[in-house]
Amino acid sequence: MKLFHLFLATSVLPFCAGQSAEPPRPNIVFILTDDLGYADVGFNAKLFGVETDVVTPNIDALAKAGTIFKQAYVSHPFCGPSRMALLTGRMPHIYGGQKNLPDVAKNLEDYNSKGIPKNETLISTVLKNSGYATACVGKWHVGSSKPFHPNTRGFDEFYGFVGGGHQYYPSTTDKVEPKINDYQYFLERNGKDIMSPEGAYLTDTLSDEAVDFIAKKSTKSKIPFFLYLAYNAPHSPLHGKTEDLKFLYPDHKPSDPKNGVNFRDYDGRQNYVAMVYAVDRGLKRIVDTLKARSIMDNTLIVFLSDNGGKILQAANNAPLQDDKGSTCEGGIRVPMFMHWPKNVPSGKVFDHPITALDFYPTLTALAGGKIPVDKKIDGKNIWPDFLAGNNPHPNDPIFWIRHHGGGNEVAIRKGNLKAYRKQFSAWKVFDVTTDFGEEKNLAKENAAVLNEMISAGREWSDTLQEPQWHDTAAGLKSWIDNEMPKYAKTFAPR
Ligand code: CA
Repeated sequence: MKLFHLFLATSVLPFCAGQSAEPPRPNIVFILTDDLGYADVGFNAKLFGVETDVVTPNIDALAKAGTIFKQAYVSHPFCGPSRMALLTGRMPHIYGGQKNLPDVAKNLEDYNSKGIPKNETLISTVLKNSGYATACVGKWHVGSSKPFHPNTRGFDEFYGFVGGGHQYYPSTTDKVEPKINDYQYFLERNGKDIMSPEGAYLTDTLSDEAVDFIAKKSTKSKIPFFLYLAYNAPHSPLHGKTEDLKFLYPDHKPSDPKNGVNFRDYDGRQNYVAMVYAVDRGLKRIVDTLKARSIMDNTLIVFLSDNGGKILQAANNAPLQDDKGSTCEGGIRVPMFMHWPKNVPSGKVFDHPITALDFYPTLTALAGGKIPVDKKIDGKNIWPDFLAGNNPHPNDPIFWIRHHGGGNEVAIRKGNLKAYRKQFSAWKVFDVTTDFGEEKNLAKENAAVLNEMISAGREWSDTLQEPQWHDTAAGLKSWIDNEMPKYAKTFAPR
């Protein structure tokens, strides 16, 4: 009898993750890329039949050995609020975080001391409190002063930069004074500035840190770890690594042989492809380290982008409509896969919507953690539905609101349908499970459902706060001058 129970426990446990009293507590390597285009990884290009010039063999191999998420959504079409949603499990509008924080180097003192409100417990804290070793490597962008710094918000270790981006060759700007934007700031380790070695390439430096953390933590095999690896690639500036550019474009001739070759000698798309390739090389090193330490089987790898690619910065979101900043699919639907041997199905495509808000409860369940009793969350633990192949969000509406000058760009997903309105134009409805480019407006055929979605949006908008900061002084002025947020007008009955 005992033997039977033992067998049952070991064979069934992984498929009951999140419900079992003894969850599997995997290591979690959460890889977030920045502004990565929907078709800018080989696995997604292949899935949608899009021709691509990206070179991502390692990302693709891992995606193929895991499950690709065909309808993965983030909660906002640009960086700061998207990351806030992911880390807090709540829509950032609810605590006034729907704008990017201002550049620290700019003179917006009041706002520079803000970030994710202190009463929002981050997923890092939940995992840390459940016994995980935690590290944040890369881009933070959700609050730079001490109360909002990664080391105060549940991460044992932080290496990277707290602002919205960085130069890819940090040594070139380390010595620049005064620093006029965040991209020129020093990298830091746990709050202390670090001078970067001459020629060091940022994506590689972040991969080095990730590998070091994994190697260090895997020596204590009983302690699981959570690594939040937030590459800023392929966000602008479009600076590929010289060696990658030479490798990818061997026939490229320098315009002036005397100057040699560097990123300035290649076009934007070539640099972009090289930047994604650098992430792919990094992923290979991470996988090699996990395998060498014999912990690959007990490690969940999640890979996605924080928002859609920016077309003007060389990204390709085909077959989706529009790009970063938009609540069309191209701004909010992102490439994603999960990999975890024997736990995440191999060679599968999950074709139901999930959102970045779901990571908080899902990872907590897998880790056997506890969400604080007073903590509200907007997503759900998708693990049981995911393993059963069911839609985790069959009926609950999923909202997006992006403020644009004097109006809003909004989207509401319910079932297969998505309602969309830009500023105060007519509402449109698309079946985004088949119409990826949002070309066939089904508003007339779905008038009643559309009215229900608008009504749900109106009700939801009553729960939202005004932005607690603006990224620029002009943004604040525009907000006041236009008497934003105008939710009543946006969600007015038709
Ligand atoms: Ca971004």
